[in-house]
Amino acid sequence: TTPEQDFVLKTIESRDVHFVRFWFTDVLGNMKSFAVVPGELEAAFENGMGFDASCIEGFSAVSESDMLAFPDPSTFQVLPWRPQANAVARMICNIRTPEGAPYEGDPRSVLDRMVRKAAEMGYAFVVGPELEYFYFEDAQGTEVLDRGSYFDLTSLDSASDLRRDTVLTLEKMGIPVEYSHHEKGPSQHEIDLRSADALSMADAVMTYKQVVKEIAMKHGVYASFMPKPMADAPGNGMHVHQSLTDLDGNNVFFDENDPSGYNLSATAKSYIAGLLKYAPEYTLVTNQYVNSYKRLRPGGEAPTCISWGARNRATLVRIPGYRPRSEAACRVELRSPDPAANPYLAFAVMLAAGLAGIEEGLELMAPVDDAAPLGCSRHEHRARGIATLPESLGEAVELFAESTLMREVLGEHIHSYLVRAKRAEWEAYQGIVTPWELERDLAVL
Ligand code: GLU
Ligand code: MG
Ligand code: MG
Repeated sequence: TTPEQDFVLKTIESRDVHFVRFWFTDVLGNMKSFAVVPGELEAAFENGMGFDASCIEGFSAVSESDMLAFPDPSTFQVLPWRPQANAVARMICNIRTPEGAPYEGDPRSVLDRMVRKAAEMGYAFVVGPELEYFYFEDAQGTEVLDRGSYFDLTSLDSASDLRRDTVLTLEKMGIPVEYSHHEKGPSQHEIDLRSADALSMADAVMTYKQVVKEIAMKHGVYASFMPKPMADAPGNGMHVHQSLTDLDGNNVFFDENDPSGYNLSATAKSYIAGLLKYAPEYTLVTNQYVNSYKRLRPGGEAPTCISWGARNRATLVRIPGYRPRSEAACRVELRSPDPAANPYLAFAVMLAAGLAGIEEGLELMAPVDDAAPLGCSRHEHRARGIATLPESLGEAVELFAESTLMREVLGEHIHSYLVRAKRAEWEAYQGIVTPWELERDLAVL
């Protein structure tokens, strides 16, 4: 065994761990898990643990359903919300085929491959996501816990204890939190994680969502990352702050002599241009549900147009300006993703789009910094010569289906699975007659 594996085996003894949960993620980003007894671990490190992959969303067809889960010892954590006697720990797994190759349906291996590609180009990818979510009284309704709003403290923010418990739990699991606050919507919250390399961050996002839900449950309420649960409140975004460093950790996005005044290097500008150019193709991955497109509408702070700027929060890419612009803080914020995305695939496609921008040496369009985009319809953006994000899942899936870049990044297996699954979701939704139609039209037509 390696020193890291030894450390896990020793900790299991010293912390009285009796179950080790193996975590991995299906193609849509749902957490999957099975428990292994400590006596099996040494063998699992060596040979993996077999499981039937045919029931996992987006994994194998029945004919090739045996897969192996190899636990990554660097992800070992004791679960703080479980009893500490006979404790439960978890490790995140890489999925391999019986022949030992990384399994093409495993989202973690897609991100790993993309991060390696960036390293070959001399870059490391640093991300800092901001996940928003709502607390509800129960799992069916949308009865909120409070009527608080942005940055409200205590009396209007009845969930502040819940949020504190959540932040403390995250920190016990080795996930540093930078910032947490009440968001604009009633009972809407946000916890921002300190930026880290993309693969650890995708693991952290999966853990974060689990922790938020577990702690809510413990307090007798429900947490939801659904993109737009209430028509008359803001949606849940997962803005992703991102930058590239060189392999020594120097931020290659920063250039204090940038004549535009944004302190952005030529590399950063081509990267942003890539995020803009490929947005129509990767939006299916960053916004993967019918409901996602109910958030990407004018009037709120979610983007609709494919532009960039510093002040306007309705642009797709924003250059955050609230910190003194320094090398350490220099980054760009992609505002379209929602927290129901699969973080492994979402980080992989944004990195791919940015790197393609660099490889193609793309020129960056002028920033859009007036207030107009906030309330503009897609139609009005296009009249101003600005491209727009797909308006529905149906539109997004067809743009994604045609994309060579997406097929290349995700691999044929995941690309074709998503095209099938998301076309089916759109078809099903198109078949629904809504209460809105009946109320509006039944009596008068
Ligand atoms: N909730 C908004 C969204 O859907 C973002 C609000 C904010 O700027 O934090 O993206
Ligand atoms: Mg926010
Ligand atoms: Mg933000």
